[in-house]
Amino acid sequence: MSAQFDYIPTSRAMAVLLGAPRYFTGAPCPKGHVADRRTNGGGCIECAKRTHAKYLSKPGNMARKLEKRAAWRSKPETKAKFRQYNKAAEARMRADPARYEDYKRKANMRRDGIFIERDVELYFVEAVLSVGGFCPKFVDKSRKGAPDRIVMVPGFPVYFVELKRPKRGIVAVHQVKYHAEIRRCGHEVFIIKNKHEIDSFMERYKR
Ligand SMILES: [Zn+2]
Repeated sequence: MSAQFDYIPTSRAMAVLLGAPRYFTGAPCPKGHVADRRTNGGGCIECAKRTHAKYLSKPGNMARKLEKRAAWRSKPETKAKFRQYNKAAEARMRADPARYEDYKRKANMRRDGIFIERDVELYFVEAVLSVGGFCPKFVDKSRKGAPDRIVMVPGFPVYFVELKRPKRGIVAVHQVKYHAEIRRCGHEVFIIKNKHEIDSFMERYKR
């Protein structure tokens, strides 16, 4: 929740200065996309996405991409790297029994095809209700990136909570911008990914 993580540079010069990979000016690109620009070259992200999608839609290109990836994935070096990564991740997990339990439970749920995010959301709503609070869904129809819930508990400040698990552990850029706007106005935004983190968030109400 650090300020520098939330900050998206508003000019390319600033992005170069900070070493940020992207920046956002709010000005549309020649094709009319109001989107992030790459610091390296100043290209529009939305245009780049479309160009790549067009490339992949041409015959043979998707097949070639998948072939390349499969070849890379089957190399002994790649396999060794994955093995090492998984081992380290498991060691971190085992160091914290609560987290390991949570991980095993989730792995079982995934195996059974249960939608995990929804489960976390229900657990969160119940936890807030149990301390006499209210946490409606927060939907902003005008803008992407709003946190999932507004949390109101008598005697405490209002908090905003993002419950959806961010892709690959990274919060999307439009969410980061939205969170920054909320924090600028003096309110806190929490990013909560599992039951373990809900329990520690709820600690504040047990005083
Ligand atoms: Zn564009």
